[in-house]
Amino acid sequence: MGVRVHHLNCGTMCPTCARLINGNGKGWLEAARMVCHVLLIETPKDGLILVDTGIGSLDVEVPARMGRPFLAITRPRLSWSETAIAQVAALGHDVADVRHILLTHLDLDHAGGLPDFPNAQVHVLKPEFEAAMRPDWRSRARYLPVQWAHSPRWQIHEGGGESWFGFGGLRPLPGISEDIFLIPLVGHTRGHTGVAVRTESGWLLHCGDAYFFHGQLEAKPHLPPGIAVFERLVQTDQRARVYNLERLRQLNLRHSDEVRLFCAHDPVEFDRAARA
Ligand SMILES: [Zn+2]
Repeated sequence: MGVRVHHLNCGTMCPTCARLINGNGKGWLEAARMVCHVLLIETPKDGLILVDTGIGSLDVEVPARMGRPFLAITRPRLSWSETAIAQVAALGHDVADVRHILLTHLDLDHAGGLPDFPNAQVHVLKPEFEAAMRPDWRSRARYLPVQWAHSPRWQIHEGGGESWFGFGGLRPLPGISEDIFLIPLVGHTRGHTGVAVRTESGWLLHCGDAYFFHGQLEAKPHLPPGIAVFERLVQTDQRARVYNLERLRQLNLRHSDEVRLFCAHDPVEFDRAARA
């Protein structure tokens, strides 16, 4: 039957140069647009589930906690009304009904909303949890301990024995929803995962940061040069990233009638999903 899903943009970012990032724009000075694509899932049995949380209310209040490099590169809009907590409330829900948060990974632009839902169980893959709790020097700027200083109720997942369209997945919410899978997609970070959700109109696969531009999934893949550079700069495992991206591209080419794929930051995919 499937669950009801809302697509929320929980953080607009406006990095310099739409040409390099979005592949469009007139001059070199036009700002790009990126989103933080978050899912709000209404379950019949157990309240609300978020997939990723975007930029949180504390980040909006005190942007400096996200660090200067992030602010300088992504130039986030920092609007309170875009935060997940504001949008959940605006949809008429009690914020306390958000019981579970599934995170594609723990980068600061995905985990920022965690403190806004302190009672939710927070689901991540084990290698991601370990990488974020003991970051090496390369990862210090991406994982922010301040975003989990409230000691979330972590649920750490391992394995992936369940088959989902040829991918190995796992069900993080047994007994609550059989229609949700974590689909490990390592590469961008050590424990990065996709999240598959069966809705009333077919499957969604939130691919997190496994790719950044819709053209990467096309029969003749293409992407703007700024994205290509950025993607390599922030990857932790190039071979795994490229391998998983190719699997996603094949999935999209073969099963686009059954599965709609999207990544976290592409505004074209977000607008398409939010309209549908
Ligand atoms: Zn991201």
